[in-house]
Order: sequence, then C-alpha cells, then structure tokens
Amino acid sequence: MSTTKRNDSIKCSFCGRSSKDVDSIIAGPNVYICNHCVMSSVDILRSNSAAFSTPAVKSRGLKTPAQIKKALDDYVVGQESAKKTLAVAVYNHYKRLESKQVFSDSDVEIEKSNIVLIGPTGTGKTLLARTLARILDVPFAIADATTLTESGYVGDDVESILVHLLQNAEYNVQRAEQGIIYIDEIDKIARKSENVSITRDVSGEGVQQALLKILEGSIVGVPPKGGRKHPEQPLININTRDILFVCGGAFEGLENIIQRRIGKNPVGFGSDVHTMTKAERQYVLTHVEPDDLLRFGLIPELIGRLPVMSSLHPISREGLLTILTQPKNALVKQYLRLFEMEGVSLEFDHGALEAIVERALERGTGARALRAIMERAMMEIMYQLPSKEHVTRCFITKDTIENGAEPVYTIKEQKKTA
Ligand code: ADP
Repeated sequence: MSTTKRNDSIKCSFCGRSSKDVDSIIAGPNVYICNHCVMSSVDILRSNSAAFSTPAVKSRGLKTPAQIKKALDDYVVGQESAKKTLAVAVYNHYKRLESKQVFSDSDVEIEKSNIVLIGPTGTGKTLLARTLARILDVPFAIADATTLTESGYVGDDVESILVHLLQNAEYNVQRAEQGIIYIDEIDKIARKSENVSITRDVSGEGVQQALLKILEGSIVGVPPKGGRKHPEQPLININTRDILFVCGGAFEGLENIIQRRIGKNPVGFGSDVHTMTKAERQYVLTHVEPDDLLRFGLIPELIGRLPVMSSLHPISREGLLTILTQPKNALVKQYLRLFEMEGVSLEFDHGALEAIVERALERGTGARALRAIMERAMMEIMYQLPSKEHVTRCFITKDTIENGAEPVYTIKEQKKTA
C-alpha cells in the first residue's frame, strides 16, 4: 500500500474522484482510495463496530479492580486476599453486564461471579459487601439465611430478600436488578449429613433450593410492601439475573474437611486437625475447593452458582486497634465528631484503646464487639457532657474504660468579673 503521485488517470475506486481533485490517494493492488473515502470509512466503522467500543469498558466509568480494592481499603482493615478476590469478581460482574450491550450477538456468555466469603464472625464479611455496594453506588440488601424458609412455611420467604433490595432502590426496579445482596450464615442451612439417603435434613436443603432459584437468575414476583403474597395483590417482577450475591458464613469445621482431603501433613503442619493453631487453620482454609463445601452440606447446584470463594482471617490485636482508629468511619472518629459538635475535643489515651481491644478479644466476636464496648464506656459521659459548662477537652483514660472512672476534663478559664 502506498500513496501515489498526482496522475490524472488514477481514480478513487470508491467515489470515482480523480487524484487531482483530492489531497491524497492510497494505492493497493489494483485499487485506490482517496482521503475522503478513508475518513468516511473510519466514521462508519466507529459507529457500527464493537471493535471500537470494547476498550470503552474502562472509559464508561467502571472502576478497575485496583481502584475497587483501594476504595475498600478506606473502610476495611486487612483481609487483603478477600478484597482482591472481591474486586476482580465485581469488576467481571459489571463487565458481564456491559458485554451484553457491546456484544449483543455474541455466543460467549460470561457467567455470573457470585461469591462465598468464609471466615469467623466479626471479620468484615458484611462490611465488605456493604462497602462494595457503596463504592459502586448500587442498592444493597442483607438477609440472614437462618430466617429463610421454603415458601409456605413460617418464616421469611426467599422473596423477602428482594423486597428489601427493591425498597433500598427506592422502588426503581432497574436499579434493584443490578444491586448486591449479602446472605449471611449460609453455612447454617447446610445439610446435616453428606449422605442424603441416611439422614434427610429437608429444612436446610429446602432453603438451599429456594435460594438457588434466585441465585441462578429468574423472574420473581414480589409483593411491593413485603409480607405474604395475596392472590389479589399486584406483584412487581424482579429479574435476578444481574444481581450479585455475596454469601458469608463461619463454616466451622470446614478446615477439618479440607485437611482430610489434602491428606496427611500436606502443608507442613501436624496432621491432627485438633492441634491446629489459629494460623494453621487459616492457612488450610485458603485451600478451600467446591468439593469441600459439598462435604460441608451445601447442595452441588448451589455451589455451582457460587464460583468465587475467599477466606477471611480472624482479626488480631493490632487489627482491632487499627479498626478502632483508622478506617474512614472508624468508631473513634465517629465519637470525635459527636464531641466536636458539643465544642469539646475528645482524646483517648493509648491505654484506653488497648483496654477496649482487650475486652473485645475476650468476647471472641471479632471486631463486632468493639462498638458495644465503646458504647457502654461512653454512655455516662455522653449523658453528662451536654449539661457541663465550659468543657473544652475530654480525655478518656484506661481507668475510664476498665472501671468507669470519670474522664479528665479541661475547663475553659472564665474571666473574673470585677
Ligand atoms: P461479619 O459479617 O464477618 O460477621 P461484620 O462485617 O458485620 O462481620 O463486622 C462487624 C463490625 O465490625 C463492622 O460493622 C465493622 O465495624 C467491624 N469490622 C469487622 N471487620 C472489620 C475489618 N476488617 N475492618 C474494619 N472494620 C471491621
């Protein structure tokens, strides 16, 4: 291919213009194209071809996995691998939605990447899902798998989850259909036995079947105000195909199942699962595979709909200390703001923070305990403070946390009147 010199006998093969009437003309084997026709061709390709819009996934405002992870870092302490796994899964999920618009005629259908988070209570499973929804600005709803029942039984129908999502989307069905649902305690609806024919635990399995229906994508009629469906009540149809489900659970004992599968002493620890330390247990959990969840008691169809798995670490002493003070809406920051509104600067002695963490560790519910401990310690102070005059600073000591001693107040000096 080359540009040719002016030669009156050469004409553009597309529009027929002579080379003397155009700025340039490109020659191929027995074919010529002028600069006008090249530009028109580019325009046609731009408007028609997916090839030009594919890289636009980024330009359409979709956050990259690294950006999602960074935003999660602002709120969630530690749990690096869970954050990365979630960031990629969520990125792919929204790319999957885009691919439907970009490649409408494609044979390749990207499957949904619903997620299972495995980890002890109070380690940030719910927080991760909630924060994701906040970052992505999509509606979010939480459900507790243990309160769900098969339809017709006493308890919440599985559809009730969708009612919450719809309410949180302010009844915008389209928004609800692209939201995120967190289902907690998914491990508690496991079948009690691996072998169905020996012990049939219908309750757990029934709920799993019901969940499967919404997880795999179906159109579900939900009563807009919640509650039971009545024949005369108009229903709103919600398509669950593009809703992202994050399921969480502690899965106690799962490490034993994994350990048994990977065999004796596979990871350099003693083969006796009962002597595993917390760290070893955690390490074993990172090897989780779908088969292990099957042995735990989840039905294969449900596992098939939860292709992404990640495990969370128990939170260490340092982790708890960081959670108290560092995240964007850390508890300490929240109290600082409350006191600031009274015109008082609040300070915590390091020993006081350590005492809060110590109590939280005793409760064994991860970071979940921090709020209640803090709330109890600060209640009396917050009761008294608004009636106190001229206080400028409130210093919380270890003694305040441990024994309810009064904090150290700084009082603004008043000018003496003559
Ligand atoms: P889980 O769902 O794992 O039981 P949550 O996400 O509900 O635990 O955590 C309970 C509370 O503890 C959260 O609201 C949050 O304040 C705090 N928390 C737990 N884990 C973390 C973490 N990794 N980073 C920051 N805060 C955390």
